[in-house]
Amino acid sequence: RSPIVGVSTVEMLSRFARGSRAPASALARRAAPALTQRRNFIAGSEEYGKHCFKGAVADAYLAKHGLPAGLLDDPSWTTTSADKVAAAVMDWAHDNGASVMTHWFQPMASLGVRHGQTGQVHNAMFTFDKDGKVEWELEGKALLKGETDGSSYPSGGMRATHTAGGYTVIDPTSPIFLRGDTVFVPTIFVSFYGDALDEKTPLMRAQKAVSTQATRLLKLLGYGVDKVGPNIGLEQEFFLVPRKDYYRRPDLQLTGRTIMGKNAPRGQEMCDHYMAAINPVALECMQEIQHECFMLGIPLRTRHREVAPNQYEFAPFFGTAVTQIDQNLMVMQICDEVAARHGLACLPQEKPFKDINGSGKHNNISLGTNTGVNLLNPAQLAKASGSHEIFPVLMAGIVRAIDLHGDLMRMAIASPGNDFRLGACEAPPAIISTYLGETMTAYLDEFRKSKAGKEYAPAVKTVDLGLDEIAPFTMPAEDRNRTSPFPYGGHRFEFRAVGSSQNVSLVNTVLCTIWADSFGHLADQIEAGGKPAEVAAAALDQHWKVIFNGNNYDEANQEALTKAGVWRIDSGVDSLQRLSDPKNVDLFSRHGVLNEKECKARTAVLLDHYSGTVEMEALCMVDMIKQHVIPAVVNAEVEGPHLSGLQAAAAKVEAGLSKMHGAADEYSKATAARELRLETMEAARDVCDKAEGDVPEDLWTLATYKELLFLDSHQGADAISD
Ligand code: ADP
Ligand code: MG
Repeated sequence: RSPIVGVSTVEMLSRFARGSRAPASALARRAAPALTQRRNFIAGSEEYGKHCFKGAVADAYLAKHGLPAGLLDDPSWTTTSADKVAAAVMDWAHDNGASVMTHWFQPMASLGVRHGQTGQVHNAMFTFDKDGKVEWELEGKALLKGETDGSSYPSGGMRATHTAGGYTVIDPTSPIFLRGDTVFVPTIFVSFYGDALDEKTPLMRAQKAVSTQATRLLKLLGYGVDKVGPNIGLEQEFFLVPRKDYYRRPDLQLTGRTIMGKNAPRGQEMCDHYMAAINPVALECMQEIQHECFMLGIPLRTRHREVAPNQYEFAPFFGTAVTQIDQNLMVMQICDEVAARHGLACLPQEKPFKDINGSGKHNNISLGTNTGVNLLNPAQLAKASGSHEIFPVLMAGIVRAIDLHGDLMRMAIASPGNDFRLGACEAPPAIISTYLGETMTAYLDEFRKSKAGKEYAPAVKTVDLGLDEIAPFTMPAEDRNRTSPFPYGGHRFEFRAVGSSQNVSLVNTVLCTIWADSFGHLADQIEAGGKPAEVAAAALDQHWKVIFNGNNYDEANQEALTKAGVWRIDSGVDSLQRLSDPKNVDLFSRHGVLNEKECKARTAVLLDHYSGTVEMEALCMVDMIKQHVIPAVVNAEVEGPHLSGLQAAAAKVEAGLSKMHGAADEYSKATAARELRLETMEAARDVCDKAEGDVPEDLWTLATYKELLFLDSHQGADAISD
């Protein structure tokens, strides 16, 4: 293998520039693997995190510059030792074949079809002197801060081309990593006036708010800790489809979902794909994804098949929210790129195919203290604090938060793809309740009545199968509820309704802010002389209705919850408006998360994002009808009612687009877009799908569901190549 194959010009230059510092054998070792080379998940455990500037990897380089081990754990290095850290980063980059650095940020509403979902400008870590000699250089200030133009990013009116300054500033709480020839420095992205233009800044502010209010409340309850922060684990679902067929689907390529397509004779009838053996083509792809992630210190532990054909999932070991989100964005990008190398296309969209399950990103969340105690683990918390009263008080705060601000939780999951998923018996409905399980519910019920904290001892039951070979075993007496949008699962909550393509910053910004607010509310009352248990019991009494342990897919239950006044917002577009509602502007402003201007700008950006998505889908549909479906129908000589139906359908979609374009503001435009998408386009789709059923296979020019969805049945040598 030539070490130069697949290497960018800049990297070649950097290797040249490294000269004697990098021996030839090291260069050969660093060469990109041949595309067809099979990777195991783990190259060797010493490789884990080698490309992540953290822990022992960073300490070794910091030591060379006279800096102590563990320096990076305290963000104050940015004010005391930036130049030396930059020098250490450069050495490490150098030794690992990287020569370029980028500030890596997350523009607002960067979900969905945006490749990689991040912003980045790559700068070489070297300069050229007048003799053409290359000099390596990375100054501390360049590591810490950058100015970027980027006025084209959505800003919701917070920037104009003549007031376009945007600044990237390092987030020292998420590690620097490198991939290929590039060092990625996670940053926030704010305007000249300090307004958040990104997804990360509000999340960091919300983390601060929840830490402030939780530590305050804990102190009043006799448990002193310095800091509290969210820990999350993101289960990522996605589809892998043959790339050659993906190229025969303009809708998948441009919008991430199939806008038309007749069902294959087989779908997920038997649930036989669920957790089935992973077919070799997909397995090799997943192994390579895990390998890449492993090098970057992304702990993707779990891989399995999901319930729809060609649907898969990865789940990492959980960690701090900001880092997990950075890593999840990188995971989505790596999935996209590695899939292409394996002749596959990775689809992260929430609903790429009709009538089979879509994809989610379960957002598992708990709150941890700086001393490593999980506040949602009752036994651990009681042991660390010596009190059984703290846990039910915190739970009362969380229950109150969900009941009061379910509208914001709904808003945070309103990604365009989730329109087709929420409430469709595969994801929980757009009614925001919480499942606590019978045991926890009974425990809190007793607490609110007795107003006394007791030990929480969830029952376990023993199962004896009566087989000599299988010893009796224990299991939690508590079942699981997969129909709830926000179940408590023992030591964490799991926000199950989150969409697969989302950047979940906004989701966690909302959770942290509403929890902060309720913890603060309880603290206020306790400071005013209230007894903690009484204050918490009153909050539980008032908000008890939001606890629902039954089947959320059942319509009668949905009616009952709606009647009881639990937040229900069926339209994703309407839920986006809630971000600018006075109640929520007040909430976010009070906690320093988003000011009024930022709330309104973000609402506008999210509405525009929705309309933009629908516009692409509608234009794609018109093209597909005119360039594929109608010609196929004509060629097959089955025109008749098909042809007139198709022409009428295309005209209606075009009319819907005109209506959207004529709308007066972002909200009416998005409302018109939603109608076009869920009504007009669905009706047009029926016409197309019926035509597909009547056209002989060899005359149909779009890839079919059968071709796209069954890797299992075409996995021979020629399965993925032409
Ligand atoms: P399940 O199918 O039970 O939801 P998975 O293993 O697929 O389980 O995913 C669970 C996710 O939740 C993982 O990412 C895991 O690391 C994460 N997780 C487990 N415990 C916690 C916790 N205390 N806080 C946050 N995330 C957690
Ligand atoms: Mg789960």
